[in-house]
Amino acid sequence: MDKVYYLDNNATTKTDPEVVSAMMPYFSENYFNPSGVYSAAQEARKDVENARSAAAKFLNADPKEIIFTSGGTESDNMAIKGTAYANTDKGKHIITTKIEHHAIINTCKYLEKHGWEVTYLGVDKFGIVDIEELKRSIRKDTVLISVMYANNEIGTIQPIEEIGKIARENSVYFHTDAVQAAGKVLLDVKKLNVDMMSISGHKFHGPKGVGIFYLKKGVRIHSLTQGGHHEFNRRAGTENVPGIIGLAKACEIASAHLTDSADMARIKAMRDRLEKGIIERIPEVIVNGHPEKRMDNTSNVSIKYIEGEGMLIHMDFEGICASSGSACTSGSLDPSHVLLAIGLDHGTAHGSIRFSLSKYTTDEDVNKVLEVLPPAVVKLRSMSPFWKEKNK
Ligand SMILES: *Cc1c(COP(=O)(O)O)cnc(C)c1O
Repeated sequence: MDKVYYLDNNATTKTDPEVVSAMMPYFSENYFNPSGVYSAAQEARKDVENARSAAAKFLNADPKEIIFTSGGTESDNMAIKGTAYANTDKGKHIITTKIEHHAIINTCKYLEKHGWEVTYLGVDKFGIVDIEELKRSIRKDTVLISVMYANNEIGTIQPIEEIGKIARENSVYFHTDAVQAAGKVLLDVKKLNVDMMSISGHKFHGPKGVGIFYLKKGVRIHSLTQGGHHEFNRRAGTENVPGIIGLAKACEIASAHLTDSADMARIKAMRDRLEKGIIERIPEVIVNGHPEKRMDNTSNVSIKYIEGEGMLIHMDFEGICASSGSACTSGSLDPSHVLLAIGLDHGTAHGSIRFSLSKYTTDEDVNKVLEVLPPAVVKLRSMSPFWKEKNK
């Protein structure tokens, strides 16, 4: 493969080599099913339970509150459908936001087709949920509030602790999709007042296909899979042992990274240099997301009078990997629901590009974008009838 300049870490991250090494033995000599009764299997069981403790420590939870899943999507489904099915005696109303990941939005849409009612809260121009609207939306039959911790497209961070407090005062379960927050901010389920939380390994240098569902003791949910008695009867199926071991390792590495302020500052400095560089070199650029309450690794910019898709193709020729403001599912070119929710018009949303950095991002990656992007924008704009009209 030719050299890539990888700036799409909110889509997935490079697996840390230490994570890979930790996983390897579980594909070969330690391949046993943790449910076995013989000693070799009991060793595997012990390793899975140690991994559970590491995951619990990462979130300040109890190991019994950690359920290993196949990733963020499954954890989100568990939270939404699991609580919906288990609490119909209380009601069939769910509150979420307009800017959630599709794993939440489409699960809620599914429930709407099956008799549930869902309120999708709006956000301000920075992408922050309206707390007053949230309070007004809570009803007697509301069973769940689900608000994402940090947005994958624009990086905006929600007031989770405050929302958790409101949910608790109203005896409504509260779930947060913290997939983008894990590894970028310290997470503490107790401090955040959450009942459920979704985490995915591959978004913070862990393996793909494994995640965490934090489920606070006492929360009533139904299982989505029926089968064996795995994961405290919450999630049937033989454990993904290598994945779980790798995920736990990723949690340990992330904890060290999060407490190393120099490491964190380095990513933010690179992101800021990238963003500032783009604004200085290209006229008519808008920065999306909250100026401060935003993940340090994310920059989403709208470059007016261009198509983000065209821009991505230009950058791809040069080996740059980034995302556009159109639907993340390729093939469809609907502008992102997140960018529309913060009030962008369709044209501006279509001209949006997301750069997301990680601990593996280098100055060279940033330099490459600043070298390739400005001339590409000039070229694309020279073909835009709107741009020509404007500059007549
Ligand atoms: C990536 C992502 C998911 C889905 O996680 P998978 O492990 O890929 O299924 C859910 N929510 C958010 C915010 C994400 O960024």
